[in-house]
Amino acid sequence: MIEVGIFIFVMGLIMGSFLNVCICRIPEGQSIAYPPSHCSNCNTRLKPWDLVPVLSYIFLRGKCRYCKSKVSIQYPAMEVLTGIVYLLIYMRYGLTSYTLRYIILSSFLIVIAMIDFKTTDIYDATVIIPAVIAVGFMVYDYLNHFNVSSRVFGVILAFFIIGAIILITKAMGTGDLEVYMLIALYVGFKGTIFVILTSIIIGGIVGLILIATKKKTKKDFIPFGPYIVIAGIIFMLYGNQILNWYLSLIVI
Ligand SMILES: [Zn+2]
Repeated sequence: MIEVGIFIFVMGLIMGSFLNVCICRIPEGQSIAYPPSHCSNCNTRLKPWDLVPVLSYIFLRGKCRYCKSKVSIQYPAMEVLTGIVYLLIYMRYGLTSYTLRYIILSSFLIVIAMIDFKTTDIYDATVIIPAVIAVGFMVYDYLNHFNVSSRVFGVILAFFIIGAIILITKAMGTGDLEVYMLIALYVGFKGTIFVILTSIIIGGIVGLILIATKKKTKKDFIPFGPYIVIAGIIFMLYGNQILNWYLSLIVI
C-alpha cells in the first residue's frame, strides 16, 4: 500500500531528526529531551518551521536562519537515510510485527554506528535499551508458542566467536561484542552467522582500502561498529535472499 509506505517514510524522516539529536548529545553526556533544539553556533532556540526534516535544510540553503552559520549535511542525510531504511523494511515485511521490530532495531543501530564512527565509542544506553525491548519481544513470542531458541543460540554464538576474536586479535572491543549480541537478539542464529561474516568482510575490505590509500596505518584504531551495523541492516533487508542464493550455488 503506497499510502502506508509514504507514511512510514515520513515517520522515518521525523525519527531521523530525533536520531540526529541523540547522535550529537549522547557522547556529550547531555539529555536528549532538554534543552529544546537550538543552533549549535548562536544558541537561538529553533522554531517548529526550522525543524521540518530535509525541507528546512533545503529552504534555508543549509544555513542557520538566525546567524547564517553552516548546518552540517549530516542532519538531512541522516533524516533521508532513516526514512529510506524504514521504507525498505516496510516493503520487505509489510504490516507485520517484523516491520516494527526492525524499525526499532535499525533506529538504535544508526545511532550506534554514527557515534562509533565519530567518537570510536559505543555507549551502553544505546545497546541496553534495544536489548531490553528485544527480550520483551522474546517473552511475548515465547508466551505465544513461537520458537525463541534460535535467538538464544545466536547470542551465545556471538559471545563465543567475537569473544575469541577479541582475546586473540584485540581487533575489536567489548562494545563491538555488545552490538553483535544485540543484533543476535533480533535476527537469530542464522542471521548472527550472516552478520558476523558480512561485517568482517566489509570491515576487512574497507580497512585494506584505507591502509592501501595511506589514510590509515596498521596501528590505527578503526571503529568496527559501523560495519556490524551495515551487515545487520543488510541481513534485515536481504539476508534470506542472499543466503538462499549462496546455498543454491553450493547445492548445484
Ligand atoms: Zn545560528
